[in-house]
Amino acid sequence: MRVAAEGPMESVDQWDDFVSSRYEAGKEKEQFRNYRADANPGVTEFYRQNHALQTLDFVLAKKAEYGSRTKARMSIQEAMDFLNTLVDDSDPDTDLSQIEHLMQTSEAIRAGGHPRWMIAAGLVHDLGKVLCLWGEPQWAVVGDTFPVGCAYSDKIVFPEFFDANPDSRNPLYQTKLGIYEPNCGLDRVHLSWGHDEFIYRVTRDYLPEPAQYVLRYHSFYAAHREGAYDYLMNDRDREMFQWVRTFNPYDLYSKGAARPDAKALRPYYEDLIAEFFPPKLDW
Ligand code: FE
Ligand code: FE
Repeated sequence: MRVAAEGPMESVDQWDDFVSSRYEAGKEKEQFRNYRADANPGVTEFYRQNHALQTLDFVLAKKAEYGSRTKARMSIQEAMDFLNTLVDDSDPDTDLSQIEHLMQTSEAIRAGGHPRWMIAAGLVHDLGKVLCLWGEPQWAVVGDTFPVGCAYSDKIVFPEFFDANPDSRNPLYQTKLGIYEPNCGLDRVHLSWGHDEFIYRVTRDYLPEPAQYVLRYHSFYAAHREGAYDYLMNDRDREMFQWVRTFNPYDLYSKGAARPDAKALRPYYEDLIAEFFPPKLDW
């Protein structure tokens, strides 16, 4: 049975497409301000929900709910096949769209001559989207991530939508630092809940630190693309964000690449998966 992701977008990929259009190679920096033109009504409504509903309390509740990782016990391959059961209304002919994005990303990283841990990170980076299949709405799975419990940066897209977030009326959460200490390190900062934090938690015991950063912060565009929230980062974060920045173009711009021949690539990826991950992981 195929399951749709509940929300205003025809598919969660519309968010990914919006981000890559926002950061289209060669676009002038100032065009970032015109991103609204690239957002269709579904994407805009998606951000309205995401910004209104991702509160600190919500994030803490989701971390508690998913922290025990008792939703499933699956291999990486099983998770890829499971994610592919997500309905994509916008592209009914592309049955392998989810796996394809993962393999296009990992293949582009491989072609770029990067280390095997980064290829592995590319292969699994969006597997956290299985949250959709456990009933999480689009606004709690995808979207640019941002810190909760402190003031919202104007470098986040559609910042005006935060007016509808109850946290914006809590003065404790609306100072620059909010509930955090200066340069406390991102590990102590709660970001909006979604597929990044979830896949980080599922895989962190098996991947080196740079890969953990890539998975956990790949949607934190305000920080890795716009330079916001430096006052929450420590030196380790700054060093590791180089890897997040190295990874990001492969995620954003590999979509147009040739369709990967999943069958021919299977032996390579079976070896790669076995090198980093146990036969089954807790999700
Ligand atoms: Fe992603
Ligand atoms: Fe991706």
